[in-house]
Amino acid sequence: MSLENLPPLPSDADLRRLIHFSAGDGRIWLAGHRMVLLHLGALANLRKELVQTIGLEQARRVLKRAGYESGVRDATLARQVRPNATAFEQFAVGPQLHMLEGAVQVTPELCEFDLAAGKHHGIFRWDHSWEVESHLRDFGPQAEPVCWMLIGYASGFTTGFFGKQFLYRELQCAGCGHDHCRIEGRPLEDWPDGEQLMEDYRADSMLVRIEDLQADLESLRVSLQPSDDLGELIGRSKAFEKAIGLLRKAAGTQVTVLLTGETGVGKERFARTLHAMSPRAGKPFVAINCAALPHELIESELFGAEKGAYTGAGAARPGRFERADGGTLFLDELGELPPAAQAKLLRVLQTGEVERLGGTQTRKVDVRVVAATNVDLEAAVAAGRFRRDLMYRLNVYPIAIPSLRERVEDIEPLANHMLRHFMALHNKRVAGITDRALDAMRSYAWPGNVRELENLIERGLIIAQAGQMVDVEDLFAVAPAVPNVTLSDSGELRPVGAADIGTLYDELQKRGISLDALEDGLLQQAVDRAGGNLSAAARALGITRPQLSYRLQRMKER
Ligand SMILES: [Zn+2]
Repeated sequence: MSLENLPPLPSDADLRRLIHFSAGDGRIWLAGHRMVLLHLGALANLRKELVQTIGLEQARRVLKRAGYESGVRDATLARQVRPNATAFEQFAVGPQLHMLEGAVQVTPELCEFDLAAGKHHGIFRWDHSWEVESHLRDFGPQAEPVCWMLIGYASGFTTGFFGKQFLYRELQCAGCGHDHCRIEGRPLEDWPDGEQLMEDYRADSMLVRIEDLQADLESLRVSLQPSDDLGELIGRSKAFEKAIGLLRKAAGTQVTVLLTGETGVGKERFARTLHAMSPRAGKPFVAINCAALPHELIESELFGAEKGAYTGAGAARPGRFERADGGTLFLDELGELPPAAQAKLLRVLQTGEVERLGGTQTRKVDVRVVAATNVDLEAAVAAGRFRRDLMYRLNVYPIAIPSLRERVEDIEPLANHMLRHFMALHNKRVAGITDRALDAMRSYAWPGNVRELENLIERGLIIAQAGQMVDVEDLFAVAPAVPNVTLSDSGELRPVGAADIGTLYDELQKRGISLDALEDGLLQQAVDRAGGNLSAAARALGITRPQLSYRLQRMKER
């Protein structure tokens, strides 16, 4: 069929009858599809913001896909509404609904079908496109067509109508200065650049792009940071927020901070953050682990040594106090500091001066001390392993960092952050972490805290298949049991065997056992088991005796 012998569009009265306003319950129906009547100005604004936020390219894809969805849905109505009509009249349901829905005025110019071969070729003229109207107003004339949702609709409708992939494209668009738009549709295989056009309809294209950008950003971050640094502190749990709040308040002051908490909670990261937030940020941050150095070396490491101060001291060298001058000195595992070093440390803190080993000269140092311990200093004092006066000196402003167990809701954001970090580090992509794995992580005790989580995530990423999700088996050799908890009638939490219960419910439904029958069976069994003792039966069912009597009575009356 060509322009000369195209029949006129059939009446759209049958389509109008499909529209049903159900104002009483706030719904509008087009046959079985729920519709929304919304202001063009609002839709246009959404479109504009989309373009401004994610760019023209991505906005085009998103809107094309939205239009496509709409077209596919309307296609389901075509044959249903006009079962005995000609192919043209059935196909016209698309253009006619598009008009009824207020999108555009459609005039057929050419419409050919070869239903047996699954072929169709169509050319339509479009006037008054809502997208042209809003695009011109917001962005002015364009070089490329702008009727994205509309062309998506035409492609989606035709594809749905024929049950095979068709693509429509704009031959000209009023958004480019023509006085109307004209579109042409063919099967995918008849377009030389069909595959390229199809790219716009692939649902994941924007997500993949965003993921790529995220991965790029993470690689940049990693290359800008030392590899052991996972960046900022992450968490939004109450326990964590409380510790961060204390840290923030201390940052601007000179107060000596004592960080306490289990091993692996991230004390050094807290110390670095405190330093970074303080006016000393531009000066050195120097860390020393008191447990990692042999006793005989720790003093020279902390306070420095003059030449020949001890065997092997070939040249004079400054200690960490001197190197941290103007900045922050982080004393990790303070509880392990030997007694002699404790005495010297106390003197430095009192005088603000250090004296190198084997030296006589004192040097003024301006150092803020942040200490950390995972042992109970009070207990160490009581046991005579730690100086009481030093403890008071350091324990001015304690911050207790919560264990990972105490901040379960932080596990997911932490794990995702670490995963992105390690993906960039190892140049391997996975799709994320399964809910099952997250559940297992939330019920695990984490004796090694955040550091253990870090190790697990890195290991999980390496074991998981590229492109797949990290699952329980990739993380744990033996998955921790996930306790399933339910609320008993008396309001207590009690665990249930979730798998068994699930199977039981399944079985009940499969056998078509009604709720009443189920209740009757349960009541009868409990009473039988209790040998007719109603109080005992009620206890076994978790209800009161009067409640049981009432239910038994109701059962008899059924
Ligand atoms: Zn157009």
